[in-house]
Amino acid sequence: MKRTITHLADGRELIYFDRRDDADRGAVDRRPLDPRPVASELRYDPLTEEWIAMAGHRQTRTFMPPPDQCPLCPSSETRASEIPASDYDVVVFENRFPSFSGNFGTYADAGGLSEVRPGVGRCEVVCFTSDHSSSFSQLSDEQVELVMEAWADRTAELSAIEGVEQVFCFENRGEEIGITLTHPHGQIYAYPYVTPRTRLQLDAASRHRGGNLFADVLAAERAAGVRVVAENELWTAFVPAAARWPFEVHLYPRRQAPDLAALTEEERATFAPLYTSVLRALDGLFGVAMPYIAAWHQAPVRWRRDLAYLHMELFSIRRAPGKLKYLAGSESAMGAFVNDVLPEEAARMLRSQIDH
Ligand SMILES: [Zn+2]
Repeated sequence: MKRTITHLADGRELIYFDRRDDADRGAVDRRPLDPRPVASELRYDPLTEEWIAMAGHRQTRTFMPPPDQCPLCPSSETRASEIPASDYDVVVFENRFPSFSGNFGTYADAGGLSEVRPGVGRCEVVCFTSDHSSSFSQLSDEQVELVMEAWADRTAELSAIEGVEQVFCFENRGEEIGITLTHPHGQIYAYPYVTPRTRLQLDAASRHRGGNLFADVLAAERAAGVRVVAENELWTAFVPAAARWPFEVHLYPRRQAPDLAALTEEERATFAPLYTSVLRALDGLFGVAMPYIAAWHQAPVRWRRDLAYLHMELFSIRRAPGKLKYLAGSESAMGAFVNDVLPEEAARMLRSQIDH
């Protein structure tokens, strides 16, 4: 794998991850770009003890451009995109409209009981392939491994930025989820705090008696078997017993690892075929491309790393053909989920779609 760091016209970093050592990465971005926006402002909610990022500049971001104007496709003779090269394997670059960045402005006291601080951190875009009409489920094992190398590299680098407390690699897929670009891509957020969900999970892990909480959950799901969707020698994919979403699959490595950077080559290689077969099973459920969120849960940079257990939580908001699960009153206002699909039934449906 060859890694090449370059910069875009407005100074943002762009990194190529190439399979071939002789890839030419000399192309230069000459677009007249506006200066980069300042970092968002973080405000503290004393009632829930959560930080909320105010990122007004994101309102102006690119929304559903026509395919010939896709900013994630390679550049051509006649059109310059975000990627100056005429082709690429995997590319990562700093988001033009980031929720978090190192570009501070001035932040005034908001009044009330809210503390205010700058949204330190970084937001990156990961292009999984140069093929506009592909999807993660269609990537070759080799390509998935290259994406995983990019995730691991970014996790290690972003974790080293001063003020960053957690690195989150994820993919939003489908218009129903709210994506604004259809080109196969994901994002990476480097947060200046430990996210609420991770805090809850690790607080629970710290109170758990016995072995590691996540390892015990995995062992119990493997023993129960009814919700296991697919498995190989190093990974297990299962629907959690208390799934929140109509179709939700968690993928755990057999071995406890804190983050993607800690995975072995063999663990990366065995994740690829298992994950893409689960994604294809999702798409096979109703014969339509399923909207989904794929979320890597990684250990925070310096808090309770020994209790954390790298895993992916993948879920879809589609509960039936033509029907979406919306976060309505109970979920949005109270955080109390009601799931319309029994997890054992969801697992059975997904298993029947797994290609062996
Ligand atoms: Zn594209």
